[in-house]
Amino acid sequence: MSRVEVDRDRCVGSGVCESLAPAVFELDDDGVLVVHSSEPDEGQLDAVRDAVQSCPTRALSLTE
Ligand code: SF4
Repeated sequence: MSRVEVDRDRCVGSGVCESLAPAVFELDDDGVLVVHSSEPDEGQLDAVRDAVQSCPTRALSLTE
């Protein structure tokens, strides 16, 4: 099972991950990132990989 983690010290709430994988990532009303599925299923993995690579502060990591 793949696992995605957020380094809260690095996340700046840019929302890039939300735009690329909205089923997994969402910014709440305070701009705090909510991870809906820390163990994304196969159908979400490509979008999650894109989000991990596109995060401007490298706050996301994916263990596969
Ligand atoms: S793309 Fe990175 S910095 Fe932006 S909200 Fe997502 S985890 Fe945070």
